[in-house]
Amino acid sequence: MSKKIILSAALFLFLIDFFCWKEVFALTSNNDLKIDFLDVGQGDSAFIRTPEDHQIIIDGGPDTSLLKKLSAVMPFWDRSIDLVILTHPESDHMQGLLDLLKIYKADYILWTGVKKNAPEYDAWTSILEKQKKMGAKIIIADAGQEIKAGNVLIDTLYPLQNMEGKDMKNTSNDTCVVSKLIFGKNSFLFTGDISSAAEKEITGSGENLLSDVLKVAHHGSKYSTSDLFLEYVKPKIAVISVGAKNTYGHPTPEVLQRLENFGIKILRTDKDGDINLMSDGKNINIIKNY
Ligand SMILES: [Zn+2]
Repeated sequence: MSKKIILSAALFLFLIDFFCWKEVFALTSNNDLKIDFLDVGQGDSAFIRTPEDHQIIIDGGPDTSLLKKLSAVMPFWDRSIDLVILTHPESDHMQGLLDLLKIYKADYILWTGVKKNAPEYDAWTSILEKQKKMGAKIIIADAGQEIKAGNVLIDTLYPLQNMEGKDMKNTSNDTCVVSKLIFGKNSFLFTGDISSAAEKEITGSGENLLSDVLKVAHHGSKYSTSDLFLEYVKPKIAVISVGAKNTYGHPTPEVLQRLENFGIKILRTDKDGDINLMSDGKNINIIKNY
């Protein structure tokens, strides 16, 4: 090829690239809050982008799915996350964060600080140390905390007391960080894997639980999502993060029935794949392919 042809080809490619990026910027610069409940199989992971472009991740799912999905939506030069929340240190919520935090730097990491005896738990605490050295601030969850990300507010509702250092021998489900994300008139409740016992404690805490969207606790286990809790939360949409193949029978017919009794729209990652919600602060839309 002559020099002239090579130069013309390079210019052509540059222009295509330039217009592509212009298009990407045009698509992403708006005033909406985006919440993606990611289809990560049997586990939980949500990716949140605020109108001011803060990036927040709540749980990381059981494998590398989160990392793959993030690299598809985040530009390659952006390797930082503003806030990472680990609801509780169990594999189906934590494993994906271990992979994520090897590559991405977090500004803030919020978790309960409970202790567990498991290899993946040790991997988590050593990653936290590395992130701290890189400047991350570690926040121990405690009800009453408020985190502000632009116009988005994240309220910690549970645990009701600081759990740092508490030894969790069997399950840490009822130590989960429960947070309510508020944007304008819209709100979203993230419940991790809490059982109805913890739900009852939260309803007794006096906090305003009303939320438009409820991330159903514990993948639709029948021991969560009680009638009492639904009466307090009154969600319009329930999101169940669950694997198509799971040995637990999640989501259980009992929970599906309770949600139906309350007339709540049910979205499920095992059937719907990634669930993308967009809020302008007044209305929530379910989006297919941003
Ligand atoms: Zn779980």
